[in-house]
Amino acid sequence: MLTALLQSMEGFSVRLYEKRQEYTRTRMVQLAPYLVADSVESYGADSIDGDSVAAIFDPVELNQGLAFRQSIAPDLSALLKSWVVGFCPLNSIERSLSDLIDARGLNGVERTAAVVTAEEAMAMLRPGDVLIDCTGSRSLLRDHLVPGSDEVDEGANTLKVRLEYALVITFLYGQPYDCNQYCKYYKNIENPHYKFIPMVHRTHYDGSVSHVTGIINISAEDFEAMPSRFDGEWLRGSFPGVAQSMDRFIDMIKQETQGEILGDLEILRIPLDLYRARNATNRQFLIADPSNHPFAESSVFLAGDSAIGSPYFQSISLGLECAMFLAGLLAQRDLPLRDMLDRYELYIYKQWLRVYMRSKMIKHNKDLFESIDDPLALLEKLHIY
Ligand SMILES: Cc1cc2nc3c(=O)[nH]c(=O)nc-3n(C[C@H](O)[C@H](O)[C@H](O)COP(=O)(O)OP(=O)(O)OC[C@H]3O[C@@H](n4cnc5c(N)ncnc54)[C@H](O)[C@@H]3O)c2cc1C
Repeated sequence: MLTALLQSMEGFSVRLYEKRQEYTRTRMVQLAPYLVADSVESYGADSIDGDSVAAIFDPVELNQGLAFRQSIAPDLSALLKSWVVGFCPLNSIERSLSDLIDARGLNGVERTAAVVTAEEAMAMLRPGDVLIDCTGSRSLLRDHLVPGSDEVDEGANTLKVRLEYALVITFLYGQPYDCNQYCKYYKNIENPHYKFIPMVHRTHYDGSVSHVTGIINISAEDFEAMPSRFDGEWLRGSFPGVAQSMDRFIDMIKQETQGEILGDLEILRIPLDLYRARNATNRQFLIADPSNHPFAESSVFLAGDSAIGSPYFQSISLGLECAMFLAGLLAQRDLPLRDMLDRYELYIYKQWLRVYMRSKMIKHNKDLFESIDDPLALLEKLHIY
């Protein structure tokens, strides 16, 4: 995304390193409508954290973000708009961005298929270069952004909050199907434990096919006893209690809408973590005593999952949002380096606040929902003063 944004701006030459030859991940993903918002009202129109947006961001900065969005090249803007319509295959986002960069004739972009190490990235850096680490949750450079000993401490620059362990169960359903909070309640009424909490949306290519991704909270012990990826049969044989909850929910969808599941169930077990880089730039190297470290004379930014990660279908939107902000900053060629780093740090921190509060709210609501039929347990979980 950053390459595509910078490619269409004057005065940048981009070297893009990517270790994968092909985009093969099969998961479907949901993007937030705020990515294509055209007004401050539509940007903040979110039932969970609309108020937080107004509390965290100044109107001026929201308007600047919207103005930048409006200036995005039409080919890229059209892609963004197509991705926010329903669930979209992650690999089609990756491929269409990659194809767009190539179709533009690679002006100013040099692409290399290679694994880059942290040492190689540092060795390539020349004074004045901009290095952007978009290497995902296991970021190449995140823990290198704190000056100090040459020994890199894993987690030295990472704040992590584990929210829960979950099964993520995904399937396509051959009928239009929608689900509100009442539906989540009634379809789980016979599930005292392992409630199936769905995220439902049409698929982006076909309004009559629904994509359902359900999350079931599991214990740390369940998590340890499961392989990382499996199918419905394995779950039914190995964890019948969890499978019954899932099957009851699916049977009720079928009774209601007379449809069938298309293909197999795909099940992953994952920890749902919220994390952020305490430093999302090399700012500390510029504050520290002068040194000949490559990070002392250039600018380094973390973007995407490398900077912030969150569960509940939010991270890609957050990453794209930060990419747009960063491209807008880099476009201001007369902005002093320190100001640029400070502004990016502040912006990332604000996005972190937003996603932290949003995720905690979702988790809290999920916890209440788990106890909805047990008033005493429910009361235990309410924080009233
Ligand atoms: C089950 C599941 C469902 C999800 N659903 C959603 C959803 O619905 N909505 C949502 O917003 N998010 C979702 N997410 C999160 C989303 O997939 C990630 O936030 C997103 O992929 C992060 O994008 P990224 O570009 O920052 O990192 P990545 O997608 O991880 O990309 C990193 C890239 O860097 C390359 N790379 C890494 N190291 C190197 C190296 N050393 N040298 C060269 N190249 C390197 C990799 O090959 C890769 O292409 C989901 C995640 C999971 C696990």
